[in-house]
This record gives sequence, structure tokens and C-alpha cells, in this order.
Amino acid sequence: MDALPTFDLVLFGGTGDLAMRKLLPALYRRSAAGQLASDSRIVGAARSPLTREQYLEKVEATCRAHLGKQFDPQCWARLAGQISYCKVDANSDEDFAALRAPLAGREATVRVFFLSTAPDLFAVTCEGVARHGLVTPHARVVLEKPLGHDARSSAEIDERVGAIFAEGQIFRIDHYLGKETVQNLLALRFGNTLFEPLWRRGRISHVQITLAEDLGVERRADFYDRTGALRDMVQNHILQLLSIIAMEPPASSDPDALRDEKLKVLRALRPLAGREALSRTVRGQYKAGATNGRPVVGYRQESGVSPDSTTETFVALKAQIDSWRWAGVPFYLRTGKRLQEKLSEIVLTFEDVPLAMFDRPAPPVSLNRLVIRLQPHEGITLSVLGKYPGEAMLLRPVELSLDFCETFKTPRLDAYERLLNDIVKGNLTLFMRRDELQAAWRWIDPIREAWLQYDYEPKTYTAGSWGPAAASALIGRDGFAWSNEL
Ligand code: NAP
Repeated sequence: MDALPTFDLVLFGGTGDLAMRKLLPALYRRSAAGQLASDSRIVGAARSPLTREQYLEKVEATCRAHLGKQFDPQCWARLAGQISYCKVDANSDEDFAALRAPLAGREATVRVFFLSTAPDLFAVTCEGVARHGLVTPHARVVLEKPLGHDARSSAEIDERVGAIFAEGQIFRIDHYLGKETVQNLLALRFGNTLFEPLWRRGRISHVQITLAEDLGVERRADFYDRTGALRDMVQNHILQLLSIIAMEPPASSDPDALRDEKLKVLRALRPLAGREALSRTVRGQYKAGATNGRPVVGYRQESGVSPDSTTETFVALKAQIDSWRWAGVPFYLRTGKRLQEKLSEIVLTFEDVPLAMFDRPAPPVSLNRLVIRLQPHEGITLSVLGKYPGEAMLLRPVELSLDFCETFKTPRLDAYERLLNDIVKGNLTLFMRRDELQAAWRWIDPIREAWLQYDYEPKTYTAGSWGPAAASALIGRDGFAWSNEL
């Protein structure tokens, strides 16, 4: 892989969970692969008053834990030499001055401010670095999700960050877009002629997107209890996947050509508001049960969660896209915590044959399906009917597996490695634009407002199940079933 241009990366939130679990191990891997120029620098920045040595101890421990046998002391020594630490409380103006020294004399170098902090610190952090003259023409800022908690708060962040950085310098992360399979989906759709004639109403009967987690709220209870599944998962990851599935072919590979098409999908989503929002959405909250063979407490008993919390840990909904391509094709979206298994997949189910001549299992088992699996094992599978060996013409499902790992035996980048590389190279294709994010919030906000207006409390489901029975009824009313129910 190409070496990256020399960069300076200031990692705000450099002591936090995301930095420790994902970002720093991702930088380690790119360094071990020889992609980091030896004069690139990484500056961890957070509120804790740590010395450089104390910070390096933490980073080394996390790299060892996450890399396991791949951890190599020599590679670590090389990377450690490029890491420093600055105590910066985003609410203290004078703290930002400490960043001047490590960045001095490097104005012509790519400069990345990675904001891995709570969103209420995004604007003050940008304003802090700007006040201290640290924003150069080569600077860019990376914002982690969630960007605000509704359209208004997100617009306010955009306004304040946009007063300092041009839109082309702002990288809004949705790490699902960094997954190899999502890019493979683009390749499948726009690098081949095979699927395009089928990718529409009349050919596809419905689409499902499932992002299921077996974990509970873990250490993020405080954040999660204020946020809920709709805003934590649907507003960003699910709507981004939906827009990639549903968009028209972009005119070029230019980042804005792709983002323009995604935006059109988000704007074509039929609004879900008032009573209609109630009949087409299911809210759930897990109660005590068992996952992976061990008992687990209910959401309200989780430490850090209010005992009378009405936050949803599960959402299922039926979305419709008002466009020539998709009119009448339902998109069923669902996500939840403490579900039976960790599973992220997109399933496109094709229409049935007009005349079933041969002996075959009854639909929905016999229907053609394209399954794009993001987790736990990335891959794309096309399910067709084939003849079962023997005299009789018996048709049975057969899976054509597009196994990219097996075919291309080359190391793959994890989502954050890929996105970090793109940030340093300045490629915005896999990042969300301001108008996309606004369109997503404008679709989500009325759903929450309807839940509040009609006191729609979450239905309980047992931890370790697939969510409330109402979610099966939602899709069942249209004559379909979730893929795990087939
Ligand atoms: P976290 O573990 O709570 O870490 C927060 C970080 O922010 C810490 O480094 C903390 O520094 C720093 N911080 C807090 N107050 C500060 C202040 N006033 N000034 C400067 N720094 C301050 O959070 P996280 O889980 O890493 O999440 C970071 C962001 O990524 C959040 O927006 C989150 O929603 C998003 N995100 C997280 C995940 C994940 O898996 N964790 C996934 C997707 C998105 P100290 O520790 O020194 O106080």
C-alpha cells in the first residue's frame, strides 16, 4: 500500500474508549504496515493531566490488548517515538496554547484535528484551535457521530464548525462506510451491469437492514440513556446504508457525485410523523434474559441507567422511498441491543417467479435473495434455486457466495484504518456531508416527536430474543418475515 503523506494528528479524546479501542490500534496497524511516514506525529489530547510516559503506557497497553500476537515491540517503539501528549481541557482557553509547541514549524504539513469527544465539545474545540492560530490551509477536522441530538443541535454544530473549517475540510465519520463490504456493494452495483436492471421496483419485493448487537449498553449507559437506538443507530448507520442501497448511479467517482445521490434518497424518504409514525415503528426495551448462554440484567437494571427509563434499546420501522425506482418497495429497518446474536446485514429479496413450474419449497424460503453481510463475517451471498440431484425436478436453495477474502488473498483494512487513511489523503467520499446529515435528522425528528406526543413507551423484549413480537407483526402484515425468521 502507498505510504501516506506526512501528517500531524491531534487526537482530542485521546484517553477515551474509542481512541483506545479503535483509533490507536488502527494507527499501530498502519504504522506496522509501513504506511506512516517517520516524520508524522500523533498528539494525544484530553483533560487528564498525564505525562507523555504515562500516556504511552496506556497506549501500549491498549495496543497489546487489541493486537494480541500481532503486537511487535519494535513496531511499537517506532510508533511510540511519534506520539506525544498534551493536556487540553476544551473549556479552558489557555490549555490550547500547549498545542502550539508540537505543531510549530509544521504549517505546510497535513494537520488533522480528530474530535473523539462528546459532540457538545466539537464547537468549543474548533474555536479553541482557531483562536490559537492552529488552523492552517492544510488542516482538517474529523467529527465522530453523533453530531448533535436533533436537527437543531446538529445545525448549530455545523454552523460553528463551518465558521472555522470549509466543508471540504470537515470529515464526518460514519464508520460503517469504512467497511470493505459497503465499498464492495458500490463495486457490485456500479462496476457490473448484472444487477442494475434488477435493482428496482418490480424486481425487488422488499429490503431489510438489520444491525443487531448481542451486547447491552456496556460502559456507555449515560450516553445511551440520553440517546436511544433511533438516534444512536438509525439516524446515521442505517440511513447511510439505506442511501447507498437506494441511490442512483453517480456520474463519477467524485465524492460529491456520490454524496449528491445519497442526499436525494434521504430527501425522498416519505415522512413518518403523527399516528402514521406509531403504526410503522416499533420501540422496544430489553428486560432480563440470557445472551450467549449467560444471564443478563434488564436495561433498567444496568448501572448508570435510570430505573424508570423509557429509552428504547430496539427500533424496527417500515420506510418508503418516493422515487420512480423504489415507489411501493418497503424498506424494513431494525436495530437493537441484547438481541440473539451480533448481526449486521442488508437483505434484498427479489420478486417470485410468475409461474412456479417445479417442485420447490414454499415462499419465502424459495425466493431469490442478495444478502450483504457486514458482521460478524463480511461477505455477499446470492441465494438462488438449483435442482436437487436425482430424477425428480426438485428445486432447493443454493448459495452463490462472493467470498472476497478467499478470492483476493490480501490483507484488509478495518473501517477506522481505511477512514484514517482517507482523512490523511483528503478523500471525502466515505464521509457524510452537512446536507446529508441534516436530511437524516429531519426524517428522524418527527418520529421521536410522535413517540413523545402519543406517549409511546417501548415494548419490553427478553434479552437474547430478536426484539418485541410487534416487530415480527410489522413486517408480517405485509406478508414478509425477517431474515432470521425464515
Ligand atoms: P469516552 O470514553 O467518554 O472519552 C471521552 C474523551 O473525551 C476522554 O478522552 C476525555 O478525557 C475527553 N474529554 C472529556 N471532557 C473533556 C473536556 N472538557 N476537554 C477535553 N477532553 C475532554 O468517550 P468515547 O466512547 O471514546 O466516545 C468519544 C466520541 O466518539 C463520542 O462522541 C461517542 O459518541 C463517539 N463514538 C464512540 C464509540 C465507541 O465505541 N466508544 C463509537 C462510535 C462513536 P479524559 O478521559 O482525560 O477526561
